[in-house]
Amino acid sequence: MSTLNQRLADIKLLMRYAVPPEDLAKATALVEKHDTDSVALHIFHAFYSYLPEGLEDAITVLRLLERRQGTFLICATTAQTDYLYLVTSEQAEFLGPLAEGIWEEEVLAFFNYESREAFLKKFTDLNTFPVYVPAHLHTDLCPFCHVADGEIHTLGCPVEVCPWCGGQLTSCDCRFTLLGRSDLKSESQLEELLTLLNKKGRLPFSAEEHRPAYPLTPLDLQ
Ligand SMILES: [Zn+2]
Ligand SMILES: [Zn+2]
Repeated sequence: MSTLNQRLADIKLLMRYAVPPEDLAKATALVEKHDTDSVALHIFHAFYSYLPEGLEDAITVLRLLERRQGTFLICATTAQTDYLYLVTSEQAEFLGPLAEGIWEEEVLAFFNYESREAFLKKFTDLNTFPVYVPAHLHTDLCPFCHVADGEIHTLGCPVEVCPWCGGQLTSCDCRFTLLGRSDLKSESQLEELLTLLNKKGRLPFSAEEHRPAYPLTPLDLQ
């Protein structure tokens, strides 16, 4: 069983305890629609393993509010209310009810909001924002770390091309040669590598070059 299938099975198990019986069929169909999308599966898993209100509930629609550098701000509308999630190919972080807006200064700054009030003002009418489409169906996004065409990959993305040898940055030997060591473990070593990479000039994601034949999804590689 692939990792994505395992994730799907875990979510369905959680849903048996979390979703009101009358909503189960519809809620399951929504999850299955996203069965190959790690971004959406992270949200479903986070939501159904920790129901924000502690009441039975079901996600009815996901809407994409923002997307930048492989990070998605997604609103999950449920039978009870609307919730915000900050999602990457790695994880989903619960931010709270949409009605309260975003409190984290870092998140507001990342998406260029001046304040929580500015955020709330933009999202007064949720229906004008698009329904989330699985990230891997966007041909302009890196299939692994989900940055857009022309953006720099998340460090560790296997699609990133090494600026020194032209190979796959996560598998060529350049990082070891440059740092003069045979492994890379600590944060400070990664920082050092990042400094060297930035100096050399990192190669951004190119949809044209990298998209067509790339078959892997993040969870399958874990
Ligand atoms: Zn990438
Ligand atoms: Zn290299």
